[in-house]
Amino acid sequence: MYDVIVVGARVAGASTALLFARNGYRVLLVDRAHFPSDKLSTLYIHQPGVARLAQWGVLDAVKATGCPALDRAIYEVADIRLDGCSIAVFGERAAWAPRRYLLDKILIDAAVAAGVEFREGCSVAGPIFDGDRVAGVEFRSAYGGSTRERATLTVGADGMRSPIAKGVGAGYIHQDPLHTCTYYTYWTGVPAHFELYEAPDRWIGVVPTNDDTTLITGYWPQDMFDRVRADPLAHYLENIRTTAPQLHERITAGGGQRVERLYGTGDQQNFFRQASGPGWALVGDAAHHKDSITAKGINDALFQAELLTQTVGRSLHDPAELAERLARYAMRMRDELIEGYRNTLGIARLEITPERLQLLRAISTSPRLVKRYFSTVSNAISVEELYDDELHAALDSLSPIGGTR
Ligand SMILES: Cc1cc2nc3c(=O)[nH]c(=O)nc-3n(C[C@H](O)[C@H](O)[C@H](O)COP(=O)(O)OP(=O)(O)OC[C@H]3O[C@@H](n4cnc5c(N)ncnc54)[C@H](O)[C@@H]3O)c2cc1C
Repeated sequence: MYDVIVVGARVAGASTALLFARNGYRVLLVDRAHFPSDKLSTLYIHQPGVARLAQWGVLDAVKATGCPALDRAIYEVADIRLDGCSIAVFGERAAWAPRRYLLDKILIDAAVAAGVEFREGCSVAGPIFDGDRVAGVEFRSAYGGSTRERATLTVGADGMRSPIAKGVGAGYIHQDPLHTCTYYTYWTGVPAHFELYEAPDRWIGVVPTNDDTTLITGYWPQDMFDRVRADPLAHYLENIRTTAPQLHERITAGGGQRVERLYGTGDQQNFFRQASGPGWALVGDAAHHKDSITAKGINDALFQAELLTQTVGRSLHDPAELAERLARYAMRMRDELIEGYRNTLGIARLEITPERLQLLRAISTSPRLVKRYFSTVSNAISVEELYDDELHAALDSLSPIGGTR
């Protein structure tokens, strides 16, 4: 009998297991994958997520992998260029972008060091029940054969298609259509900062990472997915060439070499699920998934791990108190993440509206506003906070909105 079983051992699950163990609980962490292993994802961790990694004592291990500090961000759209960085969050000014096979293993190692029992290569079939209450999980172990383990709380950190969510019948609280599709790969010989380039129906993201490589990712509207996947490399290079011509020039003139195959997906769902119930909770993509264009998933997963473990606190073995706290976790999680979700959907529409261009043009007039803008991108301040007297004055000083697309 465990206090907590966590299914899924990447950013959401390993962090949740780590923090529950540090709260003194007996924790089992299972994953069907073997580690270290990669996963389909780009890598950017915004400053609030970095601050959590620092508070948990794992940021030094991330830095030791050799990925560079990302303390300068560039965003270009139409004739506008923003060049700056988010404000620091708890002293962390830089973002970081470690390869996922490194980050996920660092978190698992920290969880194991905190006393978590970790079993890899274990595929969970679903939750087991005592009446209507989840009482643990059934899984097929790495050595074959079916095993059942019981716990007071079962946490599904098992990704967007969460078998735990399916097993408990967690419904959708919010659901929106698919917006984009994306392909990315890694390059050498392309020195870069964190860079974003936007054009109508196109988006390019640039993220320096480990081994002096640079991840470059391209986005298209969802309805182009069949066309793009028919010849992803041609569409990817064309997207870079037309959306970010200077980046394309840097690749071709500087002898940039593509060092991995293209990775891509057209299935980036947008939803919040019911995130808790009797004896169970969901964290990470299992609870809430959105388009990857704003690179918020890791950040949000670390936030959810902290929120769940802090909300449960010492009350795991008080059934009435636990039920109340799990409900509170689900409500706060949605309340805290809904604004970022709506902003992500706004960007993922890949539409450059006159209002947004006017806002960005006003922001580009002042380094302070640029810093505050990138602080909304990192989630360090809210969009509401961005609209201060200086921004209103800059907007007032611009001519009326003209046509754009
Ligand atoms: C193309 C793309 C780009 C992205 N770029 C970024 C970015 O730059 N920055 C960012 O912050 N986020 C990004 N994200 C989002 C980010 O990858 C996710 O939000 C994050 O990985 C979620 O972590 P998680 O731990 O919740 O789930 P996952 O990383 O999906 O991990 C789930 C784990 O559960 C395990 N599992 C599933 N089913 C079972 C089972 N039945 N039994 C046992 N184990 C099981 C899986 O093996 C897996 O290891 C991107 C996503 C995509 C698709």
